[in-house]
Amino acid sequence: YRAKERGNTYRFFTPEMNREVTRRLHLEEGLRAAICASQLTLYFQPIHRNGDGIVGFEALVRWVHPGEGLVLPGDFITLAEETGIIVPLGAMVLLKACHMLSHLQRHGCSNLYLSVNISPRQFDDPFFESKVAEALEKYKVDPRGLKLEMTEGVFIRNPVDASLRINDLKTRFPGLTFMIDDFGTGFSSFSYLSKLPVDVIKIDQTFISGLDQEHNRKIVKGIINLVKSLDLDVVAEGVQNLEHVEYLEKHGCYQHQGYYYYKPMTADELLHVLWEQNHHDGEGVCSGWKGT
Ligand code: C2E
Ligand code: MG
Ligand code: MG
Ligand code: MG
Repeated sequence: YRAKERGNTYRFFTPEMNREVTRRLHLEEGLRAAICASQLTLYFQPIHRNGDGIVGFEALVRWVHPGEGLVLPGDFITLAEETGIIVPLGAMVLLKACHMLSHLQRHGCSNLYLSVNISPRQFDDPFFESKVAEALEKYKVDPRGLKLEMTEGVFIRNPVDASLRINDLKTRFPGLTFMIDDFGTGFSSFSYLSKLPVDVIKIDQTFISGLDQEHNRKIVKGIINLVKSLDLDVVAEGVQNLEHVEYLEKHGCYQHQGYYYYKPMTADELLHVLWEQNHHDGEGVCSGWKGT
């Protein structure tokens, strides 16, 4: 294998690079097939608020691989981004998420929200808006229950255009909200934050898991204060123990997502947890769910 590089220099692939290329091609092929064969499924991780219990949940994609079992997004989302597969994959995630949300809204859980991760490449797709619309309309979802999570990177490249597109969607679907995911890890300037049409900030889990260190405590406290002064909502992710809970609540962050409360779970498991939270209210939320 010979790879041509800029101008007239040549480089040779080492066997190692060769294996990597083969592995990627294999993974890419598998991922395309997975979309057609419905091997992608959603897990859901509840978001908890002290006093209210579960207030919402995040949809997290999983690949049910025929040979390898459950594959986590860390092993395929980057490749999906690089190859553009994220566009059909993300559309499928939106459809499945809206299906679940619609079920909840029709079974006594219309107060819960569902958040869905949107990758930069997916947001850049000119058909992004129409895919959001298609998913909401197909399942007749009340948009007030849907939140779209995006990382800071989406905004930094072209904040004006991103804001226009988000505002258009918000006008078209009143109540639809936007969230900045993994906040604090990008090159966030605090002045741009006040200008973006986002509603919720999710503090990155590295700061929460590092709360035993003084500098992380300062960062978390600072982010919460900033978010509050801008009248935005704040969620902490990666909440793993009672010390985390207490520190966050002391500084005014009450919505928590993390292993301390729940790990990501299947739709059936989530419905059961909700049924228990609603004190076994009739057949309730568990009835009539046939899965996606
Ligand atoms: P994220 O959006 O920041 O999601 C949170 C991740 O942290 C999830 O990993 C979740 O399982 C994990 N997590 C939550 N609480 C804890 C905790 O207390 N401790 C630890 N150690 N981990 C915790 P997951 O499901 O593996 O997803 C990883 C990333 O993959 C997500 O990070 C998101 O960036 C991406 N992703 C997942 N689903 C989708 C999707 O449908 N579309 C897109 N574009 N990206 C997705
Ligand atoms: Mg997320
Ligand atoms: Mg996150
Ligand atoms: Mg993260």
